[in-house]
Amino acid sequence: MIAREEIANVLKGYNKKEIRIATICSHTALQIFHGARQEGIKTIGICLKDHKKIYDAFPYGRPDEYILVDSYSELPEDELIKKNAIAIPHGSFVEYYGKKNIESTRLPMFGNRMSLTWEGSRDKLYEWMKDSGLKVPKVFTPETIDRPCIVKTSGAKGGHGYMIVSSPEEFKKKIKTTDYHIQEYISGVRVYPHFFFSPLSKTGYTMKRGSLEMMSIDRRIESTIHESYRSTIAGIELKPSFTVMGNEGLVIRESLIKKVLEAGEGVIESSYRLFGGLTGPFCVEMICTDELEFYTFEISARIVAGTNLYPTGSPYTSYSYNEPTSTGRRIAIEIKNAAKADRLGEVIY
Ligand code: ATP
Repeated sequence: MIAREEIANVLKGYNKKEIRIATICSHTALQIFHGARQEGIKTIGICLKDHKKIYDAFPYGRPDEYILVDSYSELPEDELIKKNAIAIPHGSFVEYYGKKNIESTRLPMFGNRMSLTWEGSRDKLYEWMKDSGLKVPKVFTPETIDRPCIVKTSGAKGGHGYMIVSSPEEFKKKIKTTDYHIQEYISGVRVYPHFFFSPLSKTGYTMKRGSLEMMSIDRRIESTIHESYRSTIAGIELKPSFTVMGNEGLVIRESLIKKVLEAGEGVIESSYRLFGGLTGPFCVEMICTDELEFYTFEISARIVAGTNLYPTGSPYTSYSYNEPTSTGRRIAIEIKNAAKADRLGEVIY
């Protein structure tokens, strides 16, 4: 892992008045560029040649400048550093450039890149979730399965290929790979709250250091499980699957906000104990049972695609900012505030 000091040195060479926000044209790029534009920060989109047209279709969401590439195999780090760029590692950025590139690049990235390493390893993720004080689904080995479990196979992206099994025999019959993670299947309503943690801010939900902002909430729409009742009514026997195909908005009972904020707080406090702290956007992926208990099955330590529902803000951001504020815009605000206070090193690694 490249040292924090090396990134701080790269940042020292930046012209603070010319800072740009850069990311891959995918995932949450329109929202990130739109938010930066609202804050007067110029943007760079790393874009596949034949995708430029798609981004040009949205004049307020397109980047100010493109770096056109044939593939995402190599990060144009020198060119980006020359342009005073700060990269926003969204889901596709992390996926395409991969752990190795992200851990070693000299390109300054928004947030703490260590958090991406922690979310990317199942063992580390479980350690983090438990240390955060979160309730997590019970983990099983194939032999100990005694209830409905979800089997997460390695390399399955966005839930694709996950399976439900209820016994060791069923596991043996259905699962043919050797790399898997078996979790108790939690019945309830899935809730994906989007947070932003700022170590610079002193208002709102204050914590030991900085403050936590609840930006918005979504629920993922997954095929085929999401509308499985239709198949059931139609008399079709369905094999449930969990391939993410979209997102829909959600607000929760106001009395549940306390539990959700405390979950976010736990994740941040633990991140400081374990790896120097998560800063910026993140999501705690939970299921709320009929006892109104929240089980967390994953932390996404970066901006998540569900925030795309709210380019002009969510019900929750209305109460925090009183003007349209997306997570993309909040990122730009943090970079501006940190540059002004000469504290970029605290929010960029
Ligand atoms: P991503 O990386 O995009 O978050 P993923 O491939 O890591 O996706 P998960 O987020 O772990 O997959 O799970 C995908 C879906 O499977 C969830 O959105 C949820 O619907 C379902 N799921 C995951 N874990 C559980 C669980 N323990 N109980 C019930 N459903 C679950």
